[in-house]
Amino acid sequence: MMTKINFAGIVDNSTIDYPKKLSAVVYLCGCPYRCPWCQNAELVLNAGNCKPTEIDEIIDQLKENFLIQAVCITGGEPLMQRETVELLERIKSETDLLLKIDSNGYFSERLREALPLLDFFTTDVKAPLNERYGEVVGLPDQWQKIVERVEMTLNILKRWNHQKEARTTIVPDLIDRKEDIEKIAMLVDDVGFTLYTLQQFRADRTLDPGYERIQSPSPELMRELGRAAKKHLPKTKVQIVTQQNGFEEIKTKT
Ligand code: SF4
Repeated sequence: MMTKINFAGIVDNSTIDYPKKLSAVVYLCGCPYRCPWCQNAELVLNAGNCKPTEIDEIIDQLKENFLIQAVCITGGEPLMQRETVELLERIKSETDLLLKIDSNGYFSERLREALPLLDFFTTDVKAPLNERYGEVVGLPDQWQKIVERVEMTLNILKRWNHQKEARTTIVPDLIDRKEDIEKIAMLVDDVGFTLYTLQQFRADRTLDPGYERIQSPSPELMRELGRAAKKHLPKTKVQIVTQQNGFEEIKTKT
C-alpha cells in the first residue's frame, strides 16, 4: 500500500532555506506546540491546504525539478509524523539532493532515525531550558516535559558532526532579553552548533491574533542580541535575519 503523509505543498525554488544552495521546500502538517506568535497556523492546526498525500507524489515533484541542489523539509513540525522518515529515505535513495530538516526538537526519538539521512539539521532553541520554554511555545503547563525532550535532542546533536543550526525567534516581551539569549548561546556552544540564527518576529497572520498588534523587534535590538550571543560563540557563525536587511552576520569586534 502507498504511504500517505499529511502535506500542504512544495515551494519549488528557495535561496534562503538551505545555506548556499537552491532548494525546494516541502511543507508538512501538524505541530505539538502552540507558539502564540507562530505564522504557520494552518500547518500547525492541520487546516488550509493540508491533506494526506502519497509520498510518491512528493518524490515525483522533486524529481521533476532540475534546478535544485537540496530539499528542506519543514512544517509545522516535520518529525511529528512517523511517515517523515520514509519520505527522507525515499529522497535519499532516489535523488542526489542534499537533505535538511527544520525542526522544533520535540521528537528526539524520531530524530535518531532521521539524522543518518540528513546533511543539515536546524532546530529551534526557543528559550532557556526552564519554565520560560513552556510560556514561549504556548504550553506553560507542559514545560517540564518539553524541556526534557529538547535536552534529549541537544544531547543527540552533540554527537552528530554535520552542519547543524540553532534558531531563536525574538518576540517582544516573550523572549527578547539579553540574559535569556546569553543562556541560549551557552547551550548552542555546548552542543557545538555550526550556526546560530536569531530571527525577527513578524506580526503577520499569527496563531494568537493578539500578536498581530505587536511590533517586530528593531534591527538595532536584533544586532544587540546577536552581539550578546556572539560573546559566547567565538567559533560559531552568528547571524540575525530581519525584514529590513535580510541576513546579517554578527562578527566579533576586533
Ligand atoms: S512556530 Fe511553534 S507552533 Fe509554529 S510551527 Fe514552529 S514550533 Fe510549531
